[in-house]
Amino acid sequence: MNHLHATITDPVACVTCTYSLVGLDVDGKCPECGTAISASHPLCPRCHKVSGAPVALLRIEESSRACWCCPACGGLGFDPGQLARTIASRPVPVDADPTRPAVHVIEHQAPISCGRCRTPSTSFSIDAATVIDRCERCKMVWVDRSELPALVQYIRRIIGERKIPPRLEELLENPAAMRGAVQGREKLDEGSLLVTEVVLGILALVFGP
Ligand SMILES: [Zn+2]
Ligand SMILES: [Zn+2]
Ligand SMILES: [Zn+2]
Repeated sequence: MNHLHATITDPVACVTCTYSLVGLDVDGKCPECGTAISASHPLCPRCHKVSGAPVALLRIEESSRACWCCPACGGLGFDPGQLARTIASRPVPVDADPTRPAVHVIEHQAPISCGRCRTPSTSFSIDAATVIDRCERCKMVWVDRSELPALVQYIRRIIGERKIPPRLEELLENPAAMRGAVQGREKLDEGSLLVTEVVLGILALVFGP
């Protein structure tokens, strides 16, 4: 593992005291206040689990979207709201397929620890090959590189060739309102109840109950 990977290169400030963390190791503590540096800048949960070596994620910003990317394994981390925005901005696939496997919690593999707060994550499986992990504490979502296309395809398939309902689009811009809508199981469009239920189920994974 390249030692440089453990060092923060993005301009990032400590969430507690705003001290600049550039050049510091991602698994250390803030020299000013002692807060874990991963609270301000997450490390890769997958590489850390596999090799034990900390790898600093890189922040990716693209128009209104943002996420974290591992330079070693290519996995992606999403803070609350970011994954839904990424999915919403993908073009609708033309080969919409009505297959709708159920989302369920899996317990057969050891969980990764959150790259931000080190809490063991909960794994959710949407099909045999696609597992996403969500931290129950800070709600960061981890998606391995190979799993993102399948996840996006899956959710877009649920929405089908229809446009994203305007209400959903509006909520995707506002994670706090989305959390309220998910909790209240708000009806998002005039389409079938099944579609609304399944989309709400996915969004509940992303935004938390
Ligand atoms: Zn600090
Ligand atoms: Zn990695
Ligand atoms: Zn966390």
